[in-house]
Amino acid sequence: MPSGRAGATQPGAMGLPLPDTLTPSKLASFVSCPLSFRFAYLDRLPELPSPQLVRGTLVHRVLQLLFSSGPPDGRTPERVKVAFAVTWEALLPSEIAALGLGPRELGLFEQQARDLLDRYLSMEDPASVHAIGIELDLRAEIEGIELRGIIDRLDLLPNGDLAVVDYKTGRAPRPEQTRARMTALLFYALLCELALGKAPSELRLMYLGDGVVVTESPTEQSLRGVRQRALAVWRALERACGTGDFRAHPSPLCRSCTYRHLCPATGGEPGAASRAVATAG
Ligand code: SF4
Repeated sequence: MPSGRAGATQPGAMGLPLPDTLTPSKLASFVSCPLSFRFAYLDRLPELPSPQLVRGTLVHRVLQLLFSSGPPDGRTPERVKVAFAVTWEALLPSEIAALGLGPRELGLFEQQARDLLDRYLSMEDPASVHAIGIELDLRAEIEGIELRGIIDRLDLLPNGDLAVVDYKTGRAPRPEQTRARMTALLFYALLCELALGKAPSELRLMYLGDGVVVTESPTEQSLRGVRQRALAVWRALERACGTGDFRAHPSPLCRSCTYRHLCPATGGEPGAASRAVATAG
C-alpha cells in the first residue's frame, strides 16, 4: 500500500497520527519497544529527568559551543573550560535543577561531566578538526517519507571526503549494541547522500566514557540496507497506527526505560498510562 507524505499526519483507524518524520531515534525506539515509542513520540509523554540524560546534553552542548565559536586554533583545553562554564550556567536553573541533586551529588555530577570532556581531549585535538557542520539538521524524502537526522558533527577530511561523527557519553557497548548505534550513523550517511549529494566515507562513534572510537565505512550495500530498513519500519509504523497495536517488548532496556512506572509489562500501575496521556494532552 503506498503511503502518503509523512508530514501530512494521517490518522489510522484508531486515530493515531503518524509522526511527521522518521529519525534514527524513532526507528530504534519502535524496533526495540513499540509501546515505548508510542509513549515518547505519539503520546509525547515527557521523559523523567535522569543524570545520564542531562550529562549527555551538557557535554554535547559544550562541544557544540567549542566548535561553533572562533577559529579552530582557539579550540584549546582552556576554551573547553570556558564553554563548560557557560553551558553549566545555562543549564543549572533548568535541566540540572530538575534532577534535584544534593550538593555532594551535584559536585559528582559536575566532575563526571568534566571527566568526559577531558577524555574527549585525549581522543582528538579539536584544533585539527575541519568541521563543516555542527548539530547539522538534515532532511530528505524517500517514497513520501520524510527522513530527518541531527548530526553531532560533519567533518571534511584532508582528502576531501566527509566523516560523520557521533559523541556518546557512555562506555562502548558490546558489539551487537554497537551494530544498532552504527545503524543510526548509516541513517545519517543516507541523509548526507540524499540531502548533500555525497555520502561520507567514514562513520565515527566516539565513546567519551572510555575513550573507545569505533569507525565504519558505509558501502552502497549498507546504504541500500538502511534505506530498506527505514521503509520497512515506516510500513510497520503505519500498520501500528492503523490498529493502535503498540505492544510492550520487555528487554534488558526496560531497566533504563523512562516509562517503567507506566508500563504494564514491568508492573506499572494499571491506568497510569492513560492518566499520563490525558495530562500530557
Ligand atoms: S518498560 Fe520495557 S516494555 Fe515497558 S515501555 Fe519501557 S521498554 Fe517497553
